[in-house]
Amino acid sequence: MTAVGTQDDISSNVRVKELVESIEELKKEMRAIILAHYYTVPEVQDVADIVGDSLALARAAESTDADVIVFAGVYFMGETASILNPDKLVLMPDDHAGCPLADSCPVEEFRKFKARHPGAEVISYINSTAEIKAESDIICTSSNAERIVRQIPEDKEIIFGPDRNLGGYVMRKLSREMILWQGYCYVHDAFSWDVIKETVDAHPGAELIAHPECREDLLRHADFVGSTSGLLNYAEKSSGNTFIVATEPGILYEMQKRSPGKTFIPAPKNASQPWSTCTQMKQNTLEKLHECMVKRAPRIVVEESLRRAALKPILRMLEMS
Ligand code: SF4
Repeated sequence: MTAVGTQDDISSNVRVKELVESIEELKKEMRAIILAHYYTVPEVQDVADIVGDSLALARAAESTDADVIVFAGVYFMGETASILNPDKLVLMPDDHAGCPLADSCPVEEFRKFKARHPGAEVISYINSTAEIKAESDIICTSSNAERIVRQIPEDKEIIFGPDRNLGGYVMRKLSREMILWQGYCYVHDAFSWDVIKETVDAHPGAELIAHPECREDLLRHADFVGSTSGLLNYAEKSSGNTFIVATEPGILYEMQKRSPGKTFIPAPKNASQPWSTCTQMKQNTLEKLHECMVKRAPRIVVEESLRRAALKPILRMLEMS
């Protein structure tokens, strides 16, 4: 028997189809490219030209010949695209979709922090504001942080911000001290081994895979630690069949698409810290994506002297990775 949807389901499917068709037409008319992060909702990922993590999307923003970049992600991502493409129109479905990790590092405080360690090389995670990027020597992502830190001479002090968990992970991997800004991502920091252990015990043979923005107590127990794209590639290539995934669960959509025969279990959260998804990424709805293309707004523009200062460490990252 064929399942029949409710009237609401049918209307909503029709609406999605209309929006997708209109977005496709607007894309051609505007010579636009849509970039979407893996943490956005599936229907936005489906309509995007490129779905990726921060590094892949920064590279796509740098190399595109489209006239318009529509960035479905959080604010620092649209800002990075605009820094790389001052002559292009950069649009975001919702310019209020901020990243609390990036916002946990106010520039005035960061300048004081830097002043306490004169001469240190400043490496900032791409999840930072344009002002913080402008205060940095090199930008990194979770895919290339280790590679970039390795290239800094051993006798040089390193300031790493704003994510203390990613910084701590790189420190342990390379047995190298760094001075860490104490920011964190509320989505990843909320995972803990105490809570996940039960799920691991209930699925013997499953592999626990985790993003390096998670806390050390969890990372120590993970079978694999990697960036968003690292986790995707690992799950695809591994001979394992079941994975407990400790990162933002939006990634499961792409994991399941790439490996339809495998089982992916989102790692559970603590009842007192139940934030399982990045609510900011989910602000990028299909309706808002459509609307920003129709209205050509909100537009992301970075003031020119700030843009030039923030560009330098991003280009250094692209050269070094
Ligand atoms: S998942 Fe965390 S780091 Fe990524 S955008 Fe959301 S709050 Fe920021």
